[in-house]
Amino acid sequence: MLNKKSVDDIQVKGKRVLCRCDFNVPLKEGQITDENRLTAALPTIKKLVADGGKVILCSHLGKPKGEPKPELSLAPVAKRLSELLGQEVKFAADPEVVGPNAKAAVEAMKDGEVILLENTRYRGEETKNGEAFSKDLASLCDVFVNDAFGTAHRAHCSNVGVAELAAEAAVGYLMQKEIDFLGNAVNSPERPFVAILGGAKVADKLNVISNLLEKCDTLIIGGGMAYTFLKAKGYEVGTSLVDDEKIDYCKEMMAKAEKLGKKLLLPVDTTIADAFPNPIDAEISVSVVPSDAIPANKMGLDIGTKTAALYAEAVKSAKTVVWNGPMGVFENPILAKGTIAVAKSLADTDATTIIGGGDSAAAVNQLGFGDKMSHISTGGGASLEFLEGKDLPGVVAANDK
Ligand code: ATP
Repeated sequence: MLNKKSVDDIQVKGKRVLCRCDFNVPLKEGQITDENRLTAALPTIKKLVADGGKVILCSHLGKPKGEPKPELSLAPVAKRLSELLGQEVKFAADPEVVGPNAKAAVEAMKDGEVILLENTRYRGEETKNGEAFSKDLASLCDVFVNDAFGTAHRAHCSNVGVAELAAEAAVGYLMQKEIDFLGNAVNSPERPFVAILGGAKVADKLNVISNLLEKCDTLIIGGGMAYTFLKAKGYEVGTSLVDDEKIDYCKEMMAKAEKLGKKLLLPVDTTIADAFPNPIDAEISVSVVPSDAIPANKMGLDIGTKTAALYAEAVKSAKTVVWNGPMGVFENPILAKGTIAVAKSLADTDATTIIGGGDSAAAVNQLGFGDKMSHISTGGGASLEFLEGKDLPGVVAANDK
């Protein structure tokens, strides 16, 4: 369990509470196209309101790179959040984020009211954890609450700098839930513990592979990264995605698995095509071949049917499953079969199932299995760093209990 002060451990009645949320939602022509991050923030906001705090919300949105960009204003978030929360979330428009407008808005707040500051990345210091902006943010509040798991792996003003300057710093419910799920899975999993890694490149997940091998009982590899492992086994992989510089690393990982007595499962068959689909959802003709029989002119783009069954079988007996990265080019329906099969096997098991954010979370939701998982992380990068065994600066900065 997380030993950090949470919103249940602090008194906020009559106090100004700055709450860092992750409102980095996708926008299309000013409309929010996926509001999962807004609904995920509601429990903490409601708790702070119910306890009589003056609730000042802040977040970044996209990458305005230190200057006000109207298309990246948080104004649409304040509007939608008001509807979801059932009370007004006043938007403190201010190009300096904490400028005269925001200060006046905070000054006028009554207990239980909520305001939202402008995009924290309108300020150039934000991503550099600069002192001036951290001080500005700290000057607005008596208590700081961090509920933004999505940026917990970064040390920025609005999650780390301000936490160090505020009189009291706690974590919100979402942050707590993320850390409890991921932390329990990795550090005290109910066994057998099966980890599934996919996605594009081995290089992106070097430390995750190594760390998870130590913690899990079975490590399953799929997606683009599988072909570097297959090449390391001496197989022909055709024109599949391969990271030639990481072949020795894959050999090391296979040796490590053997030494530790862990199962490392690689695709036994693979779905191949002439080339990467272009456009990505193009109708392409595919066939399935054993993994040691990929023709030199073909590209592996998904796990094969036997592999999907093998992986599903491995998941069946698991008590804990962590999954990061799709099994194939799931954006194309013809190449989504492996990812669907794995998602289905997770949906069908009684095990605790945790999806590590990013593309895998998108895939699971898009394929309609979202509500069947125990936990879908809201932070791709943060959950990956967590799975690597790293401390997250955004979490470390909160006060211990
Ligand atoms: P995030 O890092 O955001 O959590 P992720 O870890 O879920 O995402 P990535 O490593 O970003 O996944 O990789 C996902 C991408 O990998 C998808 O766009 C998918 O099309 C691609 N991919 C999967 N299998 C293959 C393959 N065999 N060849 C090429 N690309 C592939």
